Amino acid sequence: MTIRSVLIANRGEIAVRIIGAAKALGIRTVQVHSTADADMLAVRLADEAIEIGPPAPKKSYLNIEAVMAAARTANVDAVHPGYGFLSENGDFADAVTAAGMIFVGPSGEAIRLLGDKVTAREVAMRAGVPTVPGSRGRVSDLAEARGIADQTGFPLIIKAAAGGGGRGIRIVETIADLEKQFPLASAEAAAAFGDGGLYIEKVITRARHVEVQIFGDGRNFVHFHERECSLQRRRQKVWEEAPAFQLPPVVRQQLCESAVALAREVGYKGAGTVEYLYDDETREFYFIEVNTRIQVEHPVTEMITGFDLVQEMLKVAGGAPLSVAQDDIGIRGHAIECRINAEDPFKGFAPAPGLIQRLSVPSRAHVRFDTMLYEGYTIPPFYDSLLGKLIVWGQTRSECLDRLRRTLEELIIDGVPTTMPLHQALADAPAVQSGAIHTRFLESWLETDFSLRNVTKPEVA
Ligand code: ADP
Ligand code: ADP
Ligand code: MG
Repeated sequence: MTIRSVLIANRGEIAVRIIGAAKALGIRTVQVHSTADADMLAVRLADEAIEIGPPAPKKSYLNIEAVMAAARTANVDAVHPGYGFLSENGDFADAVTAAGMIFVGPSGEAIRLLGDKVTAREVAMRAGVPTVPGSRGRVSDLAEARGIADQTGFPLIIKAAAGGGGRGIRIVETIADLEKQFPLASAEAAAAFGDGGLYIEKVITRARHVEVQIFGDGRNFVHFHERECSLQRRRQKVWEEAPAFQLPPVVRQQLCESAVALAREVGYKGAGTVEYLYDDETREFYFIEVNTRIQVEHPVTEMITGFDLVQEMLKVAGGAPLSVAQDDIGIRGHAIECRINAEDPFKGFAPAPGLIQRLSVPSRAHVRFDTMLYEGYTIPPFYDSLLGKLIVWGQTRSECLDRLRRTLEELIIDGVPTTMPLHQALADAPAVQSGAIHTRFLESWLETDFSLRNVTKPEVA
């Protein structure tokens, strides 16, 4: 069945992105929103909007009953969950299907299997994908944790099986540390994710985060190449690129093929991302997790491959076979995405919601700004601080960086502090230019070599 109408169970820039893709396919769009979001851009752009509850996410965007009631009222064919919120909630996917609608994503069963990081690790092992050395399954108590430490050595990383968004992860350096952190991690995971289950991995030091965009229609499985996402703060991505630079061709091929093998192992349907850590020195890569949804950084992949991944999601969810074969998915040039947040980089990245007084987006070839901003919009304080994603393409990485630098100078967002000064400094940083980065680079650079105060507003010559 082709999808003729879709409910967007999300907000912010990704809701705007999904509406655009749906409209291009002639699909009617219905946008849900909390009382705090009545004036958000997606509400204005959608064919119809339905209020689903108060500002607190638990009472609106995370409230399955409220979202399902809206879907029934609007009588839609399908529900697109975006990223975050209910996008990786298997019970939500089941509720959509049980109501006779299409969930734009994998089955509830696949979401549960791959969303639990421990069972996902088991699937990866079955598919022959290398995983980080560590526990076999969940680690039930401290005695078992000590046993793993004896085998793998320190430092270790304790992770919540149900964790996500950079949360539920602790690094431990010693036995004493492990004994102290393990019970804390379990209690925290139980409170945050409703599941206290933990597992343990060896810390891969100076690794890069490299991930593969996968796609399946249940029968055929392809990849859209890889992305490099090592520039992170608090284990959340800040800046992403595609393709991953300085990856030996044989490694790139093995990496992408292993991700497709994993997709095939579970008969994957929809868009997904297989995340890895890659060690430049040993040239080894290790599976860390699967995200069973569209990823924030999907535009860099679209820029280098020329495909619209959100349109493809809607088509495949409607029952169409994948519109492309692996051999037709090539790479052209290089793309970089900067996540621009309403946070003050001069004040420890404190969230800074408020009124957007002025917005000027430079328009030039090979530049894309995915955003929900407009002049006069007031960013509500209840949700995450992403304002927009600036994505720039170039024939080469260095052309891309040059274009990014010029575009960042001309992009004006007045009214709230943003992380643009950080991106300007990163674009100028020698380590970023040479590609000598790893997942801990940004945090240590913020603490040591770098004074954000040196790069306040760019001077116009
Ligand atoms: P991506 O690689 O797509 O950025 P993230 O893991 O950063 O993926 O998650 C994307 C969005 O979803 C972010 O806004 C993040 O805060 C949110 N998110 C992901 N998982 C969770 C979770 N378990 N709990 C709360 N928020 C989450
Ligand atoms: P989340 O679900 O929160 O996205 P991930 O398992 O994807 O959690 O890990 C997030 C980030 O944490 C990675 O990108 C990496 O920077 C760091 N990390 C995760 N596992 C390890 C590990 N075993 N060794 C070193 N760093 C890790
Ligand atoms: Mg991750």
